[in-house]
Amino acid sequence: MPLDNSVDNVLILGAGLAGLTAARELNRANRLVTVIEADEKIGGLARTIEYKGFRFDLGGHRFVTNNPDLDSYVRNLLGEDCLSVPRTSKILLRNRYFDYPLRPLNAICGFGPVMTASILFDYLRQRARVRFIKTAPVSLQDWVISHFGRTMFDIFFRDYSEKVWGIDCQRIDMSWMEQRIQGLSLGKAIKKSLLPGHGQQLATLTSCFLYPRLGIGQIADQLVAQVRQSNPVHTGMRVIKLNHSGFQINSVEVEQDGYRRVLNGSTVISTIPLPVLIRAMRPSPPAEVLAAASQLGSRDLLTVTLMIDRPRVTTHTWIYIPEKNIPFGRIHEPSNWSACLAPEGQTHLVVEYFCSRGDSIWDSSDETLTKTTIDHLVTLGLINRDDVFDSVITRIANAYPLFEVGYSEHCRTIYDYLENFRNLYTAGRGGMFRYYNMDHAMMAGMDAADDIIRCGSPALETVVPVSAEAVGR
Ligand SMILES: Cc1cc2nc3c(=O)[nH]c(=O)nc-3n(C[C@H](O)[C@H](O)[C@H](O)COP(=O)(O)OP(=O)(O)OC[C@H]3O[C@@H](n4cnc5c(N)ncnc54)[C@H](O)[C@@H]3O)c2cc1C
Repeated sequence: MPLDNSVDNVLILGAGLAGLTAARELNRANRLVTVIEADEKIGGLARTIEYKGFRFDLGGHRFVTNNPDLDSYVRNLLGEDCLSVPRTSKILLRNRYFDYPLRPLNAICGFGPVMTASILFDYLRQRARVRFIKTAPVSLQDWVISHFGRTMFDIFFRDYSEKVWGIDCQRIDMSWMEQRIQGLSLGKAIKKSLLPGHGQQLATLTSCFLYPRLGIGQIADQLVAQVRQSNPVHTGMRVIKLNHSGFQINSVEVEQDGYRRVLNGSTVISTIPLPVLIRAMRPSPPAEVLAAASQLGSRDLLTVTLMIDRPRVTTHTWIYIPEKNIPFGRIHEPSNWSACLAPEGQTHLVVEYFCSRGDSIWDSSDETLTKTTIDHLVTLGLINRDDVFDSVITRIANAYPLFEVGYSEHCRTIYDYLENFRNLYTAGRGGMFRYYNMDHAMMAGMDAADDIIRCGSPALETVVPVSAEAVGR
């Protein structure tokens, strides 16, 4: 399809859920959009890979939202392909599997009454302390200790968090844990397990989730099918420059198959990683903005998917592995999410390694990674070596914005600069540098689209907030 250089055209950078949801909403309002995606496939982090009859996400993606309108939106998109999947996760601690989230009875049986008493005593002491000594938590370590006590931090949280982020818990900003477990504390977790129904409103604790029959990528596939009916969605096209003057984006330069082109549009929605956006601005932003962007890191992900000649290996949704002597952090078996994800009589395990580009995991050969993964799964008693007949390695850059203590000030410097631009929106997880799940990413895309629709066409006269607070659906 030819590039659309119409001026009354919204350029959407990135075809993940944020970009595609924005595109679909603008499309429904009869606005022209052009979506530009660097990858050969659409869907971003929420895509599903197909391989010889197997399908798997880049780490299992469950859809949960507290927003009933968005829930209906996704159900309508998926129609009959919308499954409700029970969640039964486990965490491997000290060679034993515990329910995850923790159930007190399970923990008492697993750890024994002495350790459990120590956890409870420590938690109650911490709660009493928090009442009298008011210090605002800064790091993940501070936050978890204040909500769960020191013993729980040591047992449950420290090793897993350090595996995910690759840095000490005192350097991880508390906002990640706070957003991830949304106000949960040991007290609430106990109440939830003792009083049926209590705590269901916390997404962290929900026992069922929505999942598409053919993998999470079906959401993006449905969105893109609607957008493509009247708008171009370019894949394999990388954004390299945003040319601007007078705090207005004039054009976006892209590269595809070794050729560079310039696209014009009235408005730009960027869902590409915030530091990538800042580095692409021409002229370059002020030095302090560039410096702030250089301080925002990301954590990458590598998955090893093993094809297994057995109908089923586990019954779980996820298995979390904090143990330091095991190099991966999480396992899921897609057939437990939807039976359509593997050929009949066979199954597969997706094993997640949290890593950083250029480190020893990222740079390991596919053969080494496959062998290491099989060795550990055999030792854990999950598979027999002979069961595995194929494997796929996937390397995913920028999987997690890295929330190092101090990141919010760097974000603020960047937002303050971007807020001057009259026709630029940022949306999505990497686009806003927030710990967004799929529902937040979709809502951010919707909010950007709503603003553009409300402001009329083209949206050049309006000062558009790009801050995270702009997303409040
Ligand atoms: C392992 C893992 C598990 C997760 N599990 C869950 C879960 O269970 N539930 C849940 O709700 N959420 C989950 N998430 C989060 C979820 O994946 C994200 O919130 C969501 O997919 C973000 O969508 P997005 O559009 O904001 O960003 P992305 O999906 O990152 O999309 C951004 C797009 O921009 C493209 N891009 C980047 N640079 C350029 C460039 N220069 N030019 C053009 N295009 C570019 C990228 O290729 C990408 O397609 C998980 C994430 C990970 C990593």
